[in-house]
Amino acid sequence: MERKVRVRFAPSPTGALHLGGVRTALFNYLFARHYGGDFLLRIEDTDQNRYVPGAEEYIIESLKWCGLTVDEGVGTGGEYGPYRQSERKEIYKQYALQLVESGNAYYSFDTAEELDALRKECEGRGETFIYNARSRSGLKNSLNMTPEELKALLDNGAPYVIRFKMPENEVLELHDIIRGEVHFNSSLLDDKVLYKSDGMPTYHLANIVDDHLMKISHVIRGEEWLPSLPLHVLLYRAFGWEDTMPQFAHLPLILKPVGNGKLSKRDGNKMGFPVFPMEFTDPETGEKWHGYKEDGYFPEAFINMLALLGWNPGTEQEIFSLEELSRLFSLEHVNKSGARFNPDKAKWFNHKYLIAKPDAELATLVLEKLNAQGMTFERAKVERICSLMKERYNFVEELFQDCMFFFSAPQEYNEKDSKKYWKEDTPALMKELLELLKSIDDYSFANTEKVISEWINGKQLGFGKVMNPFRVAIIGSAKGPHMFDVIEIIGKEETLRRMEKALSTLK
Ligand code: GLU
Repeated sequence: MERKVRVRFAPSPTGALHLGGVRTALFNYLFARHYGGDFLLRIEDTDQNRYVPGAEEYIIESLKWCGLTVDEGVGTGGEYGPYRQSERKEIYKQYALQLVESGNAYYSFDTAEELDALRKECEGRGETFIYNARSRSGLKNSLNMTPEELKALLDNGAPYVIRFKMPENEVLELHDIIRGEVHFNSSLLDDKVLYKSDGMPTYHLANIVDDHLMKISHVIRGEEWLPSLPLHVLLYRAFGWEDTMPQFAHLPLILKPVGNGKLSKRDGNKMGFPVFPMEFTDPETGEKWHGYKEDGYFPEAFINMLALLGWNPGTEQEIFSLEELSRLFSLEHVNKSGARFNPDKAKWFNHKYLIAKPDAELATLVLEKLNAQGMTFERAKVERICSLMKERYNFVEELFQDCMFFFSAPQEYNEKDSKKYWKEDTPALMKELLELLKSIDDYSFANTEKVISEWINGKQLGFGKVMNPFRVAIIGSAKGPHMFDVIEIIGKEETLRRMEKALSTLK
């Protein structure tokens, strides 16, 4: 029987979710949707030292904002819960003990100080200390004790860890869906800690046990976890769970826009782009980080941009809805090599989504901003403005700021522009224009264009000689869309009012 596709996003709540994390969540989500499977959210919070309050809520909110609906997990529930590892504490011990019993793991009583001293000693000889088959026989662990000695230590409550007994010199040929065959030699790996006597499992044990118990079919995660793959596969083997072991896919890194290496949160601050989906204030340092949401990105644009960081549809198409992505997504089209992050491309995506939005929807967003400033404007006109102006902007906020001149008369006139266009003979000309504007009632583009053009031609003037100061009077500067559009939108009364004000202000 075909196995049901079940994938999980398993972040550790150690801070805000980086956009690389969101991409991992997205690829898991798309994979689940593509195969009609389940998308789980599991919170891996076994490392209490790295726990950041608020991080879990942040992760959940971010997924929601991105539209990545969780089928099962923290915040949603489900039959394989609890989905927060700290609430599953009791589960892990028996599995650690099972490995000890089957000879795949052992107790180790070496203190942190002892191991540190060993590490230093090795460094002194130019070697690296590894707790493994070569060193473990000389160390303080249950492999070198009689059952009585072990029992005595345990009865006395001596602190211990349980370590995985990494096989010696075994070449592991493993399969990764994205990378194909990957080889590891077990001699280079150490006897990782699986469980600590404080009752907490480490990431490796909890992760494997949970993936097994939660019936995960595919593990899709970042490349940084590839080095853990051999240990994970060996753990499945040691538990006797190889038959139902998930398939693995390690996603390529997201690289800095320039230079080498992985995109870091510092790159965002340095180059002025967000690396987090939403704003985040570090509760410890108070440091504030920008978010795509607050910076005015549409979630659809953000997701579209992320989808193409490492995946390609095999065509030239770049704009995809989440549904389309779900239909087209496959791990076979995920690249092995790193994906360079391009902040300008992120803006480009937002622009594409902005211009594709119905004007009514954009108008709602603009009206919200207007209302927030205690202003209002006729909805139909705001829609006109959006349709007229949206091509120029990447963000609604830019449109809003730049289109302020529609909503309110200029408070001041751009100095450079008025100096350039408001000449000695301008007031007389503008007075004449004002009379002309008073004499007509039809302010449609077609009519004002006709009437004003005829007047200009009749006077044998250059178009710019009239239109430039007219623009300064109405808008306050020499930029903006066509003047006939502007006065059609603001209407006769407002046009006359602005003209009169300019004539009494500008000298
Ligand atoms: N908790 C790990 C992380 O924070 C999960 C890695 C995995 O998906 O196995 O990325």
